[in-house]
Amino acid sequence: MNQREQKRFFSQHLLEWYMRNKRDLPWRRHRNPYYIWVSEIMLQQTRVDTVIPYFNRFIEKFPTVEDLADAPEQDVLKCWEGLGYYSRARNLQAAAKQVKELHGGQVPDDKQSVFALKGVGPYTAGAVLSIAFNKPEPAVDGNVMRVLSRYFLIEEDIMKGSTRSFMEGLVVELIPEGRASDFNQALMELGALVCTPKSPHCLTCPVMEHCSARLEGVEESLPVKTKAKPPRPEYRVVALVEGTGEHSGKVLIRQRPQSGLLARMWELPHVQVPQSRSGRLPDEPAMDILTGALLDEGITARPEGYMMDAEHTFSHIHWNLQVYRCREENIPLAAESKEIYRLEHERSDEEAQVHQQRWITEEDMALYAFPNVFLKILKEHFKGQA
Ligand code: SF4
Repeated sequence: MNQREQKRFFSQHLLEWYMRNKRDLPWRRHRNPYYIWVSEIMLQQTRVDTVIPYFNRFIEKFPTVEDLADAPEQDVLKCWEGLGYYSRARNLQAAAKQVKELHGGQVPDDKQSVFALKGVGPYTAGAVLSIAFNKPEPAVDGNVMRVLSRYFLIEEDIMKGSTRSFMEGLVVELIPEGRASDFNQALMELGALVCTPKSPHCLTCPVMEHCSARLEGVEESLPVKTKAKPPRPEYRVVALVEGTGEHSGKVLIRQRPQSGLLARMWELPHVQVPQSRSGRLPDEPAMDILTGALLDEGITARPEGYMMDAEHTFSHIHWNLQVYRCREENIPLAAESKEIYRLEHERSDEEAQVHQQRWITEEDMALYAFPNVFLKILKEHFKGQA
């Protein structure tokens, strides 16, 4: 079989298979470009099963682009809580504002306008244009590259831009006339259900007969992919500050800075500490550091003891957290004592930055968006109080 026939076989059999086997997913029930766009953003780095309930809640709360554009940011983040990669949610809302202002609330169907939306890269643009508008645009992600690497025995590193460009060109060639929407979804579906990263299900694969990697017996060693650098470990001590007096029964939370990692989300106060040889800092120095860090934020609290360990992985950092229970001390903090503390500890004003703070009850947790790791710690705390 020559390559032209191999390509024709692939497109035809893959499409037939998809039409018989496609999953019933909420964003597939209508060809609403806004739904498809939201689902594609949510699906980045996230499994379909995880996304479905988030997608349903999100669309219920923000049924149109305008609803999303006009919503308070904290509501959007709250709806995204637990899904991770929160910049996706912030960018999605910023892009919804663009769509509202520049396109009258209708997701545009031309390449240039879709590309200009915040948070939309080549993959998402291709997915929206092809799935929602049936435009013959490639939507090439890791799943698609895996399938193509195997079927066509492409041994180039898929982390290279040149390999991606080559594959985008290949997909354009493979899309059958007028079937971009179904074909791109079929490719994604095959990668998700059959041509899986480990132990691909070749025996049930619709294109098995002419899959080059399978015929050569090398499907398990493709695609070729250089390993990403592992996330850098960071060690942090966290304060779960229990209130006293008027704050009795409440816990102190603070808002993260306006930009950067987890921007504007809420968390428990924490501070980075040097790594000890065992990875964990002994309790005493950890508690000292924590007392100082809280003082920097205008809080007088006494660490009472270790509560739990927790961890959180970002794409480039891995947080190892040691959580300590602390108790608020109702001593009004004189400006001078704070100044003395800073001088003693040689801290600059910038280091001693003050965050926006709130004292919250268990019920108040519903009002703020927290990264998963802090949600877990707070739940653990309030469970113990019940
Ligand atoms: S035959 Fe196996 S390796 Fe080839 S595309 Fe199908 S599942 Fe993937």
